[in-house]
Amino acid sequence: MELTLHEAAEKLRQADRIVLTAHEHPDGDAVGSTMGLMYFLQSLGKQAQVILEDKVSKNLHILPGAREVRQLKWEQEIAEKAAEEAAEKAKAEPESEKAQENPAVNAGEKKEEWEPEPVEADLLVILDTSADRIGRVKDVVKAAAVINIDHHITNQEKELPVYVDGQAAACAEILFELIRAMGGDFSKNLPMAQCIYTGLATDTGFFRFSNTTAHTMHAAAELLAAGVEPNVISEALEVKPYEDIMSLAKAMEHIELLHDGRGAGVFLDYETMQEIRHTDGIVDMVRVIEGIDIAVVMKEKIKDNARVSMRSTGLDVSAIAKTFGGGGHVRAAGCGFRNTPFETAKAKLLSAVDAALDAYVPGTGEEGTPGNV
Ligand code: AMP
Ligand code: MN
Ligand code: MN
Repeated sequence: MELTLHEAAEKLRQADRIVLTAHEHPDGDAVGSTMGLMYFLQSLGKQAQVILEDKVSKNLHILPGAREVRQLKWEQEIAEKAAEEAAEKAKAEPESEKAQENPAVNAGEKKEEWEPEPVEADLLVILDTSADRIGRVKDVVKAAAVINIDHHITNQEKELPVYVDGQAAACAEILFELIRAMGGDFSKNLPMAQCIYTGLATDTGFFRFSNTTAHTMHAAAELLAAGVEPNVISEALEVKPYEDIMSLAKAMEHIELLHDGRGAGVFLDYETMQEIRHTDGIVDMVRVIEGIDIAVVMKEKIKDNARVSMRSTGLDVSAIAKTFGGGGHVRAAGCGFRNTPFETAKAKLLSAVDAALDAYVPGTGEEGTPGNV
């Protein structure tokens, strides 16, 4: 069911307890959009909180309040570590009555599945994705109503009320308009301005990709006027530990040319991933190889579960991603292969890439800088 921005605003106005969420492996737009809207709703006196499936990357901790976001994976890690420690302690002192009574010990012994604390809400708002990529948030939040706001052309949401603007460079660009339409003033709320700016900046490759429009720049200008310091945000997002740079160097040794040099890929299977700690951003290094129309990165962090990132100069990679249950934009898309041996997943992907390159005549697609996330 399609929703207008006006109707979305109305739903937000009517609700009091609101949970904001976004996709797994949250990027700058996912975190910036959810937190930006949270700050706005809180300024209206509403109870608004962000809950995400995965952890917010350390670089995004530059955003005020990012550490306090509920991150289910993080909660799970803490709970499991506590249970493990308690179990160790109980083993070390089996006679200890205290350990016997400790519920964490029992949980550890029985290997009970950890379950996140549920939350009741009037409204759940899903941002920067459709509902299928929010992980356990959909079970944790008991919401009376749900709405979806997104900028992915591949968003096929049929059941929920959904507002999709494929022209928006970032979900944060839609929220910029929504917040203004609801009377929000960025100059009075710096954290809100910083979060929305981060969404705009990260999804446009810092205003370089072809999704950057005059509207995106006007929005960014207003956010700068409200006090956002662009260098502070970009420097915090770019900085990487030395070990991560060395990991990227190792990962780059795996770059291979595909299809007579019309594509380039990095394929990192589970064994290779054990030596490579950090590979975020590698696709941005592959996509700049001269003469290629497509860049792909496939990583198997979890055995038999490979994740794929694709970038192109005009060829529609969202169509390739869609055939494997993923999605995205023309020039930036992704998908995942579940319960599939790495070599099988790689062969499937490569055959789709080959077919797409065979069918693609350079210069006939949406040309421009690869990117557009
Ligand atoms: P990434 O390569 O992870 O930066 O993602 C590129 C674009 O594709 C982003 O807009 C993502 O939201 C989208 N995307 C990545 N993986 C998936 C997926 N499994 N399903 C749908 N969209 C995806
Ligand atoms: Mn995103
Ligand atoms: Mn986005």
